[in-house]
Amino acid sequence: MRRWIPCLVLTAAAGCASAPPQTQPSTRPSLVVVIVVDQMRTDYIERGLPHFTGGLRRLATEGTWFRDAAYPYLNTVTCAGHSTIGTGSLPYRHGMVLNAWWDRETGRSRPCTSDGTVRNIGYSGKAAGGDSARSLLVPTLAETLRRETGGRTVALSLKSRSSIPLVGRSATAIAWFDELTGWTTSTAYAPTKLPWLDRYFAANPVKADAGRTWERLLSPSHYEGVDDGTGERFPQGWTQTFPHVLATTVPPFTAQWQRSPFADEYLGKLAGAAVNSFGLGRGKGVDFLAVSFSTLDLVGHQFGPASHEVQDVVLRLDRTIGALLDHLDKTVGRGRYVVALSADHGVGSLTEQYAGAGRQGGTESLAAINGALAPFFGEGKYAVHSAYTDLYFAPGVLRKLEANPNAAAAVLAALKKLPALAHAFYASEIAAPEARQASDPVRRAAALSYHPERSGDIIVVPRPGWMLSTTSAATHGTLYTHDQQVPVIFYGPGVAAGVRGGAATPADIAPTLGALVGVPFAAPDGRPLVTLTADK
Ligand SMILES: [Zn+2]
Repeated sequence: MRRWIPCLVLTAAAGCASAPPQTQPSTRPSLVVVIVVDQMRTDYIERGLPHFTGGLRRLATEGTWFRDAAYPYLNTVTCAGHSTIGTGSLPYRHGMVLNAWWDRETGRSRPCTSDGTVRNIGYSGKAAGGDSARSLLVPTLAETLRRETGGRTVALSLKSRSSIPLVGRSATAIAWFDELTGWTTSTAYAPTKLPWLDRYFAANPVKADAGRTWERLLSPSHYEGVDDGTGERFPQGWTQTFPHVLATTVPPFTAQWQRSPFADEYLGKLAGAAVNSFGLGRGKGVDFLAVSFSTLDLVGHQFGPASHEVQDVVLRLDRTIGALLDHLDKTVGRGRYVVALSADHGVGSLTEQYAGAGRQGGTESLAAINGALAPFFGEGKYAVHSAYTDLYFAPGVLRKLEANPNAAAAVLAALKKLPALAHAFYASEIAAPEARQASDPVRRAAALSYHPERSGDIIVVPRPGWMLSTTSAATHGTLYTHDQQVPVIFYGPGVAAGVRGGAATPADIAPTLGALVGVPFAAPDGRPLVTLTADK
């Protein structure tokens, strides 16, 4: 019988170079679990580890943690990160370059999962729009496991752009939380509501959390910094400081709930229910369960990474993930499942807490371009859309600029005068495949995020500490370490405990998980960090 024995390597062909695995199962794992924490920087785990008792402790201390893992690209946003984790490809290849890009044909912003050919289905009301993985240009690991082993695939999150890219174009079950209609799925995955989910949502209404109080899990002395940090923002009905009481009316209950650890707890229990309902890990194939916890992102955008709120969400996630792993131990069996933990991006500090920094909205970049072109072509709206680092021209403008180098140069000069911007360059500089190996790290990172039909005509990069948004207190979406560096941790049978250095990216997750369950998954931008050998 083939024995499934993983070994740790840091270079693709270097062979087995790891410490002996803790356990060597005689059969391959029957369940792949992908846990994504939206907006979790690597240092959150280091910072919280002394206080962790649950799942984050178990993964960080009993799994293999690739300590230097980071996204290599510029547009460190949710849809791009989840698509990278789900497919093992980078945005230039998987195509999910932003959460929403400018559709040049329709002249409208297009959310990454939007699909006019399908219809969303609300579990407790009529849902708007339609979402699918139609814009995802490469296959996911989950699709491959489904096709090659007959495994069941499940994805759960508060966001469609965090669940859909983890499973792809088909799934056994998928649900996300819509601000207006609550739990939602799409006809892309099933023609109607799934009965077990319908029953679960009816028996476990989110509104049961109305009136609950979010207080710090530990005593205040366990938290770094102050609770009322300068520049912190908060949802309607709350203040900067604990306790945070969830309203009993909608609004503002739904917005508050999504920004409370109760939403993460709900997702963790929902994931456990999915394991029971489908018998995940107990079928003939290799099953796939993805859970993306969204609350940290929503809290981080408002309260900022130094806040007691962010620290508490992470502490409670440790417990929530611990409960999910304990449930998997009981139902699937310890040693019968593999886990990857990562994040879709990190986050920068509040600009108020960063000397010399500030905020600039996207409209200021567009105004600078339009002002620079007025002397050449007359007053007009030449730049029409800003998607953080990506600026888009109206149809025909790029051609006019190609014919008028002085006008083209004036655009860049005007952008570089803006205090927020460190870099501004035409996308034509990064369009060629060689740009993805450019020696200039800014051009290289932008090229790895670049898709010709979806990315902007001009790429801008904010100065350190600056934000190209006025709506959030803190945000992400750049090539700085605070946005790119995220945890990449593998845990499961045969995966040795330890912290590893060396290059690694979240694009390595899908091929590594494929290797751990013996289903090779070709991912040209990633490589197995933990590979299987089979003794004869
Ligand atoms: Zn975010």
